[in-house]
This record gives sequence, C-alpha cells and structure tokens, in this order.
Amino acid sequence: MNNTVDLHTHSTASDGTFTPRELIRLAAEKRLRAIALTDHDCLDGLPEAMEEAQGLGIELIPGVEISAEFSEGTMHILGFFVEWRDGAFRERLERLQAARRERNPKIVQNLRDQGLDITLEEVAAASGGGLVGRPHFAKVLVRKGYVSSTQEAFERYLKKGAPGYAEKFRFGPEESIRMIHEAGGAAVLAHPFTLSKDAPAKIEAAVRDLAAAGLDGIEVYYGTYSNDQIREYRKLAEQYGLLHSGGSDFHGAYKPGLDLGVGYGDLKIPYSLIEPLRKKAKERAAAS
Ligand code: AMP
Ligand code: ZN
Ligand code: FE
Ligand code: FE
Repeated sequence: MNNTVDLHTHSTASDGTFTPRELIRLAAEKRLRAIALTDHDCLDGLPEAMEEAQGLGIELIPGVEISAEFSEGTMHILGFFVEWRDGAFRERLERLQAARRERNPKIVQNLRDQGLDITLEEVAAASGGGLVGRPHFAKVLVRKGYVSSTQEAFERYLKKGAPGYAEKFRFGPEESIRMIHEAGGAAVLAHPFTLSKDAPAKIEAAVRDLAAAGLDGIEVYYGTYSNDQIREYRKLAEQYGLLHSGGSDFHGAYKPGLDLGVGYGDLKIPYSLIEPLRKKAKERAAAS
C-alpha cells in the first residue's frame, strides 16, 4: 500500500462517471490508503462506497462538497468525516438538491433558446439517476455534436455568464460551514482559485472571512495546481491557522487525463493530512 490519499472525488451519485463501488475498487488498484468521497450536495454514494471500502480494507472518509453562495466566482466547501446518517444534515442537503431540480429546466430552456435541441429527459438519462450537474448537460451537447468536448460545452454554453447558465439557490458560506460542523465534520475550502479569476487579494479576503466563520482547512494540493499555487495556499493556511487538505477532484471521464490519487500524474498527497482533520472533526462533533 502507498501511504497516499485522495480527499476530493466524485461518483455517479453526483457528476462522476464511476459508481461508488467502482471508485473504491480503483482506489484499491492504485493502492491508495484512504479516499474521501465528496459528491456535490449529496451523501447518496456513501453507503455503497462504505460497504466496498470495508471489504477491500481501504479507509473511506465520508464527505460532501457544498456549493456556497459567493458573488465573485465559485465557492465550494468540503465537509470531511460528516455524520452521513444525520437527518438534519440530509434535510439541508435536500434543499440544495431541490435547487438543482429548479435550475435544470432553466438551463434546458436557455440552451433551447440558443437553438440547441436538448431535453431534460436526455440530461437526466445522462446523469444515470444521480444528482444532475452541468457536466451532464455537457455530455448531451457533446453526444449531439454541438461541441467537441466538456470543456468547450462549458466555455460556450454552461459557465457563469454563458448563455445556458442559470443560477440556483445556495446557502451562504457561514451557513455552509455551520451545517458541516453540526454534522460533526471538518470544513475545508476547495480549490481557492475558483473564488476569483484575476485577484489574489480577493481570494485572501475571502479566506480571511471564512476562517473567521470557523473554516478548518484549505485545499493545498489539487489536480491542477502549479507549484506557485501550492506555495500560495500553504502560506494562506499558515496565516489563518488552517489545516491542509488535498485531492484530485476526480470525475472519471468528465475530466479527461485526470486520474484518481495522482491527478495529471504528479499529485502525491500524504496520509499524514488525515489525522489533524479527523481530530478537528471530533472537536466539531463534540461541540455540536
Ligand atoms: P453544477 O454543480 O451542476 O453547477 O456543476 C459544477 C461542476 O461542473 C463542477 O464541479 C465541475 O465538475 C464542472 N465544471 C464547472 N466549471 C467547469 C469548466 N469550466 N469546465 C469543465 N467542468 C466544469
Ligand atoms: Zn463536479
Ligand atoms: Fe468543486
Ligand atoms: Fe469537486
């Protein structure tokens, strides 16, 4: 077994292309010691993943990735060691799932207004029954030949500001952190660079505010980071007393070339990141 981990992964329960079981098997093949399943806004992949992980002797950290309200760019907050059977937590996540159901027909209509032939049924079929996310819209657009890749689908139609985009309800950052803490989890800011495309000062200001709201950690290793980014986020972690986390953000076929554990090839996330996060989650659980 390698002493490495991957703390940011998606399954078919949200917008990954591997089922929870397949994901755990892949982690075993790659000899990872632990992974966190962090599907968007839902915990539905966890029971199956837990079962498979127990069978294969892999440590599975129950996680989630919550989309939080943020006016600038995109804010995703990871929850680790969350109590995934907690009814109150599930209910709050259900609000986010309902927000997707309200949003998705709007995206379909926006795309149809652009002259594209696409239906909600096709998108739902592309999601395979899990939570519908924008990568599933992209998949249909690729299949129908409107674009040649997921990336192009986002650039032309699906990214914020593009003609297909539609807003959805999100909880604010403080509330997102609080619900993770109340579920006994540690809250970690995912991929800080998505907070602002052009202004490092805005990223730092957001991290400062999040830290004041109880954020526990920040993703200092990620599939696409440069060495400069790693240094920058380590510095932010030190400055605001945040733990380190890291993961590939594996989505299977939706992110071509990006593999579990290793990212684009050189990612290596040490198991030693896990204990501090576990300890923090225990403190959060005890306090809630
Ligand atoms: P949603 O939660 O449905 O709004 O979709 C968000 C997901 O879309 C992210 O987690 C990524 O998997 C994917 N995504 C967002 N922006 C892009 C992009 N520019 N290119 C490719 N995938 C993206
Ligand atoms: Zn995703
Ligand atoms: Fe994310
Ligand atoms: Fe993710």
